[in-house]
Amino acid sequence: MAENYPREAGLQPAKGCFINNRWEPSASGRSLPVVAPAEGVIFAEIAAGNASDIDRAVTAARAAFETGTWGRLTATERGRLLMRLAQLVLDNAEELAAIEARDCGKPIRAARADIQATARYFEFYGGAADKFHGEQIPFMNGYYVTGEREPLGVTGHVIPWNYPAQMTGRTLGPALAMGNATVLKPAEDACLTVLRIAELAAEAGFPEGSVNVVPGLGHEAGAALAEHRGIDFISFTGSPQVGTLIQTAAAKNHIGCVLELGGKSPQILFEDADLDAAVPVVVAAIVQNAGQTCSAGARVLVQRSIWEKAIARIAERFNALRAGLPNDDPDLGPIISAKQKERVEGFIARAKEQGVPVIAEGGLHPKAPAGGFYVPPVIFGPVPRDNALAFDEVFGPVLAAIPFEDEADALALANSTDYGLVAGVWTRDTSRAIRMARRLRVGQVYVNAYGAGGGIELPFGGVKKSGHGREKGMEALYEFSALKTIVIKHD
Ligand code: NAD
Repeated sequence: MAENYPREAGLQPAKGCFINNRWEPSASGRSLPVVAPAEGVIFAEIAAGNASDIDRAVTAARAAFETGTWGRLTATERGRLLMRLAQLVLDNAEELAAIEARDCGKPIRAARADIQATARYFEFYGGAADKFHGEQIPFMNGYYVTGEREPLGVTGHVIPWNYPAQMTGRTLGPALAMGNATVLKPAEDACLTVLRIAELAAEAGFPEGSVNVVPGLGHEAGAALAEHRGIDFISFTGSPQVGTLIQTAAAKNHIGCVLELGGKSPQILFEDADLDAAVPVVVAAIVQNAGQTCSAGARVLVQRSIWEKAIARIAERFNALRAGLPNDDPDLGPIISAKQKERVEGFIARAKEQGVPVIAEGGLHPKAPAGGFYVPPVIFGPVPRDNALAFDEVFGPVLAAIPFEDEADALALANSTDYGLVAGVWTRDTSRAIRMARRLRVGQVYVNAYGAGGGIELPFGGVKKSGHGREKGMEALYEFSALKTIVIKHD
């Protein structure tokens, strides 16, 4: 239980729920401890928002959308607000990065990059707000027809703990650009930057009720938001299990949803791959955020003819990796919580028991505190195709290496899991790269590169168990809007 960790002196008290641009105490009167995963100490508290808080937030958003200032703003004005928020995120970047690093345990340089990306989301969607046009549709003589993109109304957003700041930018940016009023339920395991960004949104001038944030537990605040009859759409990123609950709740209320539910993304190394370019990227794609990235490159598929050579080079890097404190410049940080650490270690222990060979294992930074939730990165291989490591999402720094014979085998293996989020293809043969890219059942393909989700501009999302719908890029603006057809008869 998180409550049992040592409590830091002078820990930050819970701010409450951010509703109508004000901090309001949760109706539950309870707060939740926030544990620093790199140290295993409680350093802050957040409010335990509940159904009543969600109801207040949805009511505030509805009023902002229907009768408030927010609903009357032009697209240009909304864009300006998003640009101002982007600037405020940049102005406060060092503070936000320090919070994110402590809350998630990630290396400070990674947290800094996350905050830059967060600002970039608001900037991108600020710029896009008044450049997303409807259309004029040719019809019968005597008719003038337009298709206009309008906001959905009140949008709900449930986000995970792996990239709290970035996820806020990714999901709120397009929703606000389109004029929706928003209610966000961040993850209980890490959400302090989200709460700070809500304050910055108010400072940027977002009108009351347009940005509401209710922290709390998933089965309380999260479920209440998903089931609330006052929302018009819900965006969710997290586990497939909760994704099912969200989609079921959305179905009951006849609203749409976008779901991003993780993956088991392959990096495919053909025998003509440039290994100098590929190897560092393959390693970084699973070590980034200690493997707690939905688009982590969790499988490396290697053509048998280069297996020895490629694996030796990946192993050399793995052996040198060190997990440690955010400010000690580690290669990776800890796992987010003791519960998740136990889950990841369970995968590792079972694979070892089943005799899956360990190719290489990293270690801990000498200054990594004993109380932190560290798991040294490990590469297993050859992983049998019927072993859980070949198809289950571990969500930790565990790389499964699997040999393949030829292009057809590589494709079948890559497409063999229930997931379909991202894939990387490493080859100098352009025709093969195009054939593979077209046949891989995923939402994003990288050729001779790997973006782990890629840039803000790049539409992102999955197929199969990885979810459906797209966020990022201009595509997200379609998700957070509806097309209205207007038919006008004239003489
Ligand atoms: P989770 O799905 O339980 O949590 C994600 C978000 O959903 C959090 O905000 C949580 O509070 C909320 N939530 C939980 N239960 C809910 C409910 N009943 N109704 C509405 N919202 C609810 O994920 P987790 O337990 O934190 O992690 C478990 C696994 O999920 C991980 O091991 C990983 O495989 C996967 N995961 C994926 C991503 C991703 O980016 N795709 C992120 C986090 C976790």
